[in-house]
Amino acid sequence: MEVGIGDNGRILAVGKNLSGGERHDVGDAVLIPSAVDCHSHFRDPGGSDAVENFETGTRQSALGGIGAAVDMPNTQPPTTTTDRLESKAERTHGRLAVDVLLYAALTVPERVAPLARVAAGFKLYMSPTTDIDPPRLERLPSLLAAAAATRLPVAVHAEDPRFFREHTQLEGTEGWNALRPPQAEMEAYERLHPIPGGLRLHIAHVTLPAFASRIFQEGESFEVTPQHLLLSAGRGADARWKVNPPLREPPASSELWEMFQRGLVPILASDHAPQSAEAKARPFLEAPSGMPGAETMLPLFLARVRDAGLDLPVLLRAAADRPARLLGLPQGRIAVGHRANLLVVDFRRRTELRAHDLHAPCGWTAFEGWPAIFPREHYIDGRLIVKDGEYVGTHEGRVLRPEFAPGESVPID
Ligand SMILES: [Zn+2]
Repeated sequence: MEVGIGDNGRILAVGKNLSGGERHDVGDAVLIPSAVDCHSHFRDPGGSDAVENFETGTRQSALGGIGAAVDMPNTQPPTTTTDRLESKAERTHGRLAVDVLLYAALTVPERVAPLARVAAGFKLYMSPTTDIDPPRLERLPSLLAAAAATRLPVAVHAEDPRFFREHTQLEGTEGWNALRPPQAEMEAYERLHPIPGGLRLHIAHVTLPAFASRIFQEGESFEVTPQHLLLSAGRGADARWKVNPPLREPPASSELWEMFQRGLVPILASDHAPQSAEAKARPFLEAPSGMPGAETMLPLFLARVRDAGLDLPVLLRAAADRPARLLGLPQGRIAVGHRANLLVVDFRRRTELRAHDLHAPCGWTAFEGWPAIFPREHYIDGRLIVKDGEYVGTHEGRVLRPEFAPGESVPID
């Protein structure tokens, strides 16, 4: 099979014996589309203690096989106004290893329409996060109606803080799970009902199989993260495993994994949210939440294609095709008219993850020692940006916005 790429970086033809100029034979390796990550935190601008920025963050995305990534709005300051969104876009110039999409925070109904002219989507925080307070519940219907009118995707952090507990005898990830219990997640989703017609709802980082089934049955979009699929709450007070929503008890992750394997989870997203090793060394309850994941998401799952019976097409739909469609991007498939954002993967090249081989400035990974398969080459618009674990691109990533609405097809040049 051959893929023909035009001068415009789009796929012109897929087939056998294509005519054309320069040829590149990938040998026994497999050609797949680049992933699209609809949830990452590049922490830019991020104040004095930030351990990430657009340059370092998107380099990890590139090396991990992600060709486009959503940047979430809980930066410092948070992207709650058009001015801040525009100045964030300016900060990206010449610093992006891959493309990014900038989300705005959904906080005030009157700001939604102006923000929609600049943002690629919205994030609704239903529990407090860095510098953003959740909207009052009585305001939700008007906020959601305003967001529905924009036709942009709305990602929701679904945790209702009224169900958070203040005390637990438990420590570590077990205790965190008890303080922010499953009920908080399910109840937050109920608060979004009735879901206004036309709202492009997407529930971020779902951790519970029953919750995933409910959203699936209602036909709404949602994502799960590698950490909630592969890790569980357990004893030990290591705050590197502290994330929001929390890691759940072991049956949740194995049942979620089963759903993922059966293709019942629409989207895989990293929720790349690095924190410094020093901050994570604080006592569990004082340490910040979040873990890095842009560089490791796809490699962890490619290894599971090889070792754990995960179907490659199931993975690619969740990691590339569906997020691209959610975001209105002509990529995520090897098909005519799509951007030639491609990975060359050699499934014989399995490695073990080691923090010192990775490129996160925070210097640690929750997946130390896990098997991984990194893409050998990464192309954006047919141009090589990663070769054998090195970024070889020229930081030509762009700020993207949706190119087509849901239901429309990818424009073919
Ligand atoms: Zn997040």
